[in-house]
Formats: sequence, C-alpha cells, structure tokens
Amino acid sequence: MTQILNVEGASKSFGGVVANEDISIKVNQGEIVGLIGPNGSGKTTLFNSIVGTHIIDGGTILFEENDITNFTIPSIARLGLLRTFQKTKIYGDINCMKNMRISIPHEEENILTMFSKIPPEEDRRAEDLLKFVGLYEKRFLRAGELSFGQQKLLEFAMALMNKPKMLLLDEPTAGINPTLINSLIERLKTANKEFGITLLVIEHNMRVIMNLAERIYCLAHGKLLAEGSPADIRNNSKVIDAYLGAQ
Ligand code: ADP
Ligand code: MG
Repeated sequence: MTQILNVEGASKSFGGVVANEDISIKVNQGEIVGLIGPNGSGKTTLFNSIVGTHIIDGGTILFEENDITNFTIPSIARLGLLRTFQKTKIYGDINCMKNMRISIPHEEENILTMFSKIPPEEDRRAEDLLKFVGLYEKRFLRAGELSFGQQKLLEFAMALMNKPKMLLLDEPTAGINPTLINSLIERLKTANKEFGITLLVIEHNMRVIMNLAERIYCLAHGKLLAEGSPADIRNNSKVIDAYLGAQ
C-alpha cells in the first residue's frame, strides 16, 4: 500500500484553545477514511492545517513525497490535494456552468477575460461532471437558486474539475435531505473507485460514515482518541463514551 497523506504530530492552538494536539494520521492511496468526533474536537482545524489554511505550531504533513507543512493553499491544490467546506463555497450569483469554469486553476487573474479563454474541452468536462452529480439540467440556473444539497453536489463537481488526487470533505451530507444523501454517497464511491480519488471525510452521520469509510479516526478534545475499522470504532468504549453515546 502506498501512503498518500501522512500527518505527523500536528498541533494547532488559537490563543489559549488547543484545537489540535499532536495528531498523527495516515491515509493510503485509494482509501476512503473517515474522521469523526464531537463538535469542537478539532476536525475542521485538522483539515485547515492539511490544506494550508493554517500555519501549524508543530508537526509535519507529507503529501505523496512532498513535505507540504505550511505550504500555501494554491501550491497544495496544484499538487492535487483539495477540500470542500462544511458550509459550501459556491458563487450564488452566477450559473452552475460558470461556477465550474471558475473552479479550474488559472494563470489568468482577470475574471472577465478568463471566461473567454476556457478551452471547449474544459466546458465539455464541466458538463460531464454536472451530469455526474445530476445537475446538468440546472447548468444555466444561478447556483444560489439550488437547494443546499444541490449546492453541495455542485461544490463536489467543482472540486472534481481540478482532477484532484485526494479530496478532504467536511461534513458533505450535513443539512441535505435523505434522498440526496444516498446519491451523494454513491457518487463519492464512484469518484473513489472509478476516478481513483482518495477521500478523507468528516461526517456526523454514523450510517453514512460506517457505510463509506474503510477506516475511521476519532478525535476528542483536540486529540486522537481511536483509529480502526468501522466495526472497531463502533465497539470502542472510549469512542462510545466520548461521542457515540451522545448520538
Ligand atoms: P470541529 O470541526 O471538530 O467541530 P473545530 O476544528 O472547528 O472543531 O474547532 C476546534 C476548536 O478550535 C474549537 O474550540 C474552536 O472554537 C476552536 N477554533 C477553530 N478555529 C478557530 C479559529 N479560527 N480561531 C479561534 N478558535 C478556533
Ligand atoms: Mg467542523
């Protein structure tokens, strides 16, 4: 098994709040790994540290053979490591196709001239990915008019435009209806199996994460509490006390 992400002893504090303390996690190429834990346990902070939103206080982060510790967000994205957000980051005032076009990495700074320079094959890829997430019919609708669940599917498709090697998904199913949850799970599995994208997923919905992940890490109070298969995690007394018991 080839390792794709290796976080070694990552620590991050905000003033007096220790959000992450000496956290080590590893993800292998092609895996789907879950990250769970109570609210405030440091999950989003860990994502932010991995993708370059935060400067970490200690530890190292390797992506493939690259030491990306405290690299910038764009330089990490260029290596093929991207994230999506707990609350989506789409552009509500423009249509879905334009959102897809904006998500392609560009040298071009000026957003007005940028649209005219997009090669037709990129537009076809955008259409194919919108079909993949079930939003093709809505491609000329303003993204702000989509339901929250559809916006999350759009954000997922926008991330796929970048041909990532690995995606970090922050609560992808939060706030979306059960039908869309099932279709999102299927699409995540397809992205993993057919496009070969490694996934690290923060998720509160236990049914979803037990069904999706091959391995799960559990955080509590900014520290790593447990790691194991879904069955191990479900039966781990520390995890039950800190998290599952409260579900
Ligand atoms: P989770 O995603 O598991 O709910 P977070 O990583 O968002 O947890 O938060 C962990 C802790 O760090 C919380 O106490 C939170 O208030 C704090 N925290 C997170 N981000 C910031 C920030 N930018 N500034 C100050 N405190 C933060
Ligand atoms: Mg969070």
